[in-house]
Amino acid sequence: MPDAATPHIVIVGGGFAGLNAARRLARRDVRVTLLDRRNHHLFQPLLYQVASAALSPADIAMPLRSILRGAPRVRVLLAEAQAVDPAARRVTLDSGSLGYDALIVAAGAGHSYFGHEEWEALAPGLKTLEDALEIRRRVLLAFEAAERVEDGAERAALLTFVVVGGGPTGVELAGAFAEIARHAIARDFRAIDPTQARVILLEGGPRLLASFPPDLAAAAARSLGRLGVEVRTGAQVTRITPDAVWVGGEQIRARAVVWAAGVAGAAIGRSLGVPTDRAGRVMVQPDLSVPGYPEIFVAGDLASVPLPGGGTLPGLAPVAIQAGRAAADNAWRRLRGEPTVPFQYRDRGSMATIGRAAAVAVVGPLHLSGLPAWLAWLGVHIVYLIGFRNRFLVLIQWAWAYVTWQRGARLITGPWRGRD
Ligand SMILES: Cc1cc2nc3c(=O)[nH]c(=O)nc-3n(C[C@H](O)[C@H](O)[C@H](O)COP(=O)(O)OP(=O)(O)OC[C@H]3O[C@@H](n4cnc5c(N)ncnc54)[C@H](O)[C@@H]3O)c2cc1C
Repeated sequence: MPDAATPHIVIVGGGFAGLNAARRLARRDVRVTLLDRRNHHLFQPLLYQVASAALSPADIAMPLRSILRGAPRVRVLLAEAQAVDPAARRVTLDSGSLGYDALIVAAGAGHSYFGHEEWEALAPGLKTLEDALEIRRRVLLAFEAAERVEDGAERAALLTFVVVGGGPTGVELAGAFAEIARHAIARDFRAIDPTQARVILLEGGPRLLASFPPDLAAAAARSLGRLGVEVRTGAQVTRITPDAVWVGGEQIRARAVVWAAGVAGAAIGRSLGVPTDRAGRVMVQPDLSVPGYPEIFVAGDLASVPLPGGGTLPGLAPVAIQAGRAAADNAWRRLRGEPTVPFQYRDRGSMATIGRAAAVAVVGPLHLSGLPAWLAWLGVHIVYLIGFRNRFLVLIQWAWAYVTWQRGARLITGPWRGRD
């Protein structure tokens, strides 16, 4: 086992990038400390399934300690990193501080409300399990409240669900909400008809899924249309109030609004004192280190990695996984005095699901939509889930929910928080 003289690598964040960095370093002759403010690794790509009551929180999260049980050189700390002092090579924690020889910052990204932070309470985003449960709670309680009210206009507002942002998360959420209304709870109410609920997807740009080819964006819009989702492009949200969303001068009365429009790099990135892009992501060198501090690396959603033809790598799980491993290898090389290697992302495709048996996917030259894309999406998610734990049971349970439309006990909620 390493002693105190063994070099120490600190990793901030146990998401896809940080966890893969830790695993990569587990067999090296270094001391590794992985710290995260939560005690679990979260499979974010399936968060919307929790928000839409198709999966339970425990299905998509796993304690970091259990994942790294077999890696005795890796110490897991439940702690929040508040700032980095690059000159002193120390990370300030919520309690105490930690010195390092090399640092990998993989703290991910949060939501950006484009200067309207007051919208956050009215339109939560989807990033954590708490967010997913809060969104689920708001949607289910809106149906419950609609069942009680007599006033037609108020009932219509309660049965209007607005998703802001037409990227993959917004598309997935809108599709999932439409499925809840049209199928999962369609026959469970007496005074209201849940199938009459409106799901509106607002996108400020000219089309959905800007990062996908136009033909697939159009296929996604058609699939959403079949589910009854009202897709509106060129629709910039200008105001959000407790009972309405405004698009320019138009008021859309709605009680449940979800934000899927902007991301902002985690605050810890700014404490490095190096350049960040407009989204607050750290602009890294080709080897993922930061300018002026060759022993500090940034990986995952927090890193702004330039592409040769312009633009930057997207905030996707495969990017974070590969970058986490690359940052770990380069940190190890740096400690040994070896030259580092530029990070090269191997793009194996991207995909977004739109609901039951519908998705869009780009895999190399192939553009898939409908059932083939959904099967590809399912296959990839099985592989990744199994990658950190055997989740066949989850998949079976989920497949059952798809076949039967049943959400079961996951439809339980209430005004109480934190018990569902
Ligand atoms: C709803 C949703 C759906 C998505 N769907 C897909 C998809 O279908 N396909 C795809 O490829 N990608 C998808 N993504 C994107 C993908 O999940 C991210 O790109 C990926 O999680 C980034 O990994 P990361 O390690 O950089 O950050 P994260 O996974 O966000 O991990 C960051 C970690 O750092 C911790 N942390 C943050 N700040 C601190 C701090 N100050 N101190 C200590 N710990 C800290 C957090 O608790 C977290 O555990 C989706 C994301 C979301 C939110």
